[in-house]
Amino acid sequence: MIRFFRRFRRKSPIFPPPPTPNPRDYASNAALLWLEEEIDALRSPIFDSYAYARSLQGCIANGDRMRGGGVHCHALKRGGCLDLFCWNILLNMYVKFGVLVGACNVFDEMPERNMVSFVTLIQGLADLGEFDEAVELFRRLHSEGHELNKFVFTTALKLFVIMDSPELGRHVHAGVYKLGHEKNAFVGSSLIETYSLCGLVNEARRVFDEIIYKDIVAWTGMVSCYAENDWAESALRLFSKMRKARLNPNNFTLTSVLKASVSLWSLKLGKSIHGCSIKCHYETDPYVGGALLDMYAKCGDVEDARLVFDIIPHNDVILWSFMIARYAQSNQNEEALELFLRMMRSSVVPNEFSLSSVLQACANVVSLKLGVQVHSHVVKIGYDSEIFVANALIDVYAKCGEMEASLEIFSQLPHINEVSWNTVIVGYVQLGLGEDALKVFNQMRNAEVEGTQVTYSSTLRACASIATIEQASQLHALIAKTPFNDDTVVSNSLIDTYAKSGSIADARKVFDVVKERDVISWNAMISGYAIHGLASDALSLFDEMCKTRIKANDVTFVGVLSVCSNIGLVQRGLSFFNSMKSVHGIEPCMEHYTCMVRLLGRSGRLNDAMKFIEEIPSEPTPMVWRALLSACLVHKNVEIGKLCAEKVLEIEPQDETTYVLLSNMYATAGIWDEVALVRKSMRSKGVKKEPGLSWIEILGEVHCFSVGDESHPDMRSIKAMLEWLNIRINRAGYVPDSSVVLHDVGEDQKTRLLWVHSERLALAFGLIRIPHGYPIRIMKNLRFCLDCHAAFKMVSKVVKRDIVVRDINRFHHFAGGNCSCGDYW
Ligand SMILES: [Zn+2]
Ligand SMILES: [Zn+2]
Repeated sequence: MIRFFRRFRRKSPIFPPPPTPNPRDYASNAALLWLEEEIDALRSPIFDSYAYARSLQGCIANGDRMRGGGVHCHALKRGGCLDLFCWNILLNMYVKFGVLVGACNVFDEMPERNMVSFVTLIQGLADLGEFDEAVELFRRLHSEGHELNKFVFTTALKLFVIMDSPELGRHVHAGVYKLGHEKNAFVGSSLIETYSLCGLVNEARRVFDEIIYKDIVAWTGMVSCYAENDWAESALRLFSKMRKARLNPNNFTLTSVLKASVSLWSLKLGKSIHGCSIKCHYETDPYVGGALLDMYAKCGDVEDARLVFDIIPHNDVILWSFMIARYAQSNQNEEALELFLRMMRSSVVPNEFSLSSVLQACANVVSLKLGVQVHSHVVKIGYDSEIFVANALIDVYAKCGEMEASLEIFSQLPHINEVSWNTVIVGYVQLGLGEDALKVFNQMRNAEVEGTQVTYSSTLRACASIATIEQASQLHALIAKTPFNDDTVVSNSLIDTYAKSGSIADARKVFDVVKERDVISWNAMISGYAIHGLASDALSLFDEMCKTRIKANDVTFVGVLSVCSNIGLVQRGLSFFNSMKSVHGIEPCMEHYTCMVRLLGRSGRLNDAMKFIEEIPSEPTPMVWRALLSACLVHKNVEIGKLCAEKVLEIEPQDETTYVLLSNMYATAGIWDEVALVRKSMRSKGVKKEPGLSWIEILGEVHCFSVGDESHPDMRSIKAMLEWLNIRINRAGYVPDSSVVLHDVGEDQKTRLLWVHSERLALAFGLIRIPHGYPIRIMKNLRFCLDCHAAFKMVSKVVKRDIVVRDINRFHHFAGGNCSCGDYW
């Protein structure tokens, strides 16, 4: 579809249109006739020049270039009939029409020149960007001894401002001072503007104070000088002084003070300036309106901004884009889309900003349908290769899970920037496709595109999602060579990635060298300790954090409370939970409640946990009930467990984990009828078991195993290893717990099924390939199975190896026959 439209999109026609006769040609001829008649009638050289001047001024006023040229020719033919006044008008005409060659020729041919001639040509040269010539002419004006008056000075100052060389203005200031023009409001305002541009606010103020009769331009110049240079308070103080002097502001004054109130983040000030602009009838001025919109959007809320938007005339695409962007940024997507539709119905043509903002709204609501509609419109109006818009399109498709469409747009872009790369990487990470994200990152490096903060932090997230410690440390080495080594956001991602990839020690190393730790750094480290079951480290880090000026937030408490629930610190957990609201002012959310239920459940206080759940102000989520169900399994409380399972299945009837937990619970309690019923119910509801997958990384290569998977090339040695492990751990006292197998098969078969669980295949492969002394790290996509957990504990004792398994919830460190989770997860 994209290619199809591309062929038909053409911005300019191939053939120029045929020339059409200009109706002004006839008029010009008529005017020349009139001119001739007038000159003939007057028959006097003095009046000749006067007539030419009038005629030329008429041409300038009407923009009639053709007739102007005719009058010039006429005068040339007569010869020597123009006076200096008329020559200057002729020069001004060429300047006004932008014919620089004509203007320079006239200037050279002039029999005499005065200050006006110079100033006129200097302005013309400046307008067309011929700055060197303009400065040279200014020098000539001075050296030829022409009058240096306020017009000359203001022209020169304006020239330096356009040239962006305000330092030249200082020389002019000296001249101004010598000739006593500094008290003039006209010259003074230009000097203020020049100094404002160099950031010399005090100099500007000195000039302002010298001006005797300050007009509104001078006041506005000084107020805007303060506002532009971030002297917001001074700007507002001067503004109120100006109001006391009974001067009414103009639209530029109001725009400047609004800007000042934005930099002070003061909605109150902004509102009073809004009131002032209503009193002065400027509230519908497009400049003031734009500034008001900006002020309300930044200091107030988006509703206030909308009220302003509805009042001001919005035939300007910038105001529309601004409003749409605000809605999209504040996640008010319906409003953004509605406004975009209204804009499309008006005469305003969307630009790249309005298009990319409306696409952001489509991405926020994950609406492929809307995204495709905007996309086809983008193609129609020829914005699809505009980088801003294309990146927004890539994002929409990625968010909707259509990576192929994203890649198609990406590959057809003529100029790809780092944002395009980042959008694709983030897209893969969000879809949980960490390996693809890493591939794109490598391509980006091969294309020699510099990575940004987003690139590194999202690529690290990709590493964390697939728990690849080797890739993470390679990336770390790479980051160390970039300016992002000291970047807090990237460092936080590093801490999180190391923790989630199983190396808590590396995470701590990074944490210790972060230059400016923020709350996310602390949270990453505390939750890192929590998922590794390192309770004392986590709690002492939390104590340390409380001593800094960084305030704990809701995420910090999820980490702290899960630490308490991991090791059963009931009293501490309760006091942390109570302090959340009373000391730290944090309203507990469902995750905190879940932690508390786990904590109470784990310590066997199942009834307290039930009571706790009843007191949760909102409807408890399945997460809360599952936490209590796990506790019931450990403490063999069938009654409450059954209730929990019912609650979960009411909301999520297809939740496989709950069936497994329920079945395990009945099996442990020896209620075999119920076990059979659970299986039956699973079958009748068509619950699909999410296939269990386990990964192990060996020498940078990730090997994936699924249940009963025999496709691995080393399967023979893996089977032999499993057989050997089976014998060894049975001898050491391991008793298989076949209750975790939900299939209706014989006991023998069940035991055999246990031995093809994906985590065991990965473990056997790791034992074969990873040399002694190195830990074996495995990642699993589901909850660690009960029986495999028991087997792993035994294996760690028999083979004397450290085994680290990351399941969907946390890390299990097996060593010497024990697990860091304390058999509770
Ligand atoms: Zn298992
Ligand atoms: Zn464990």
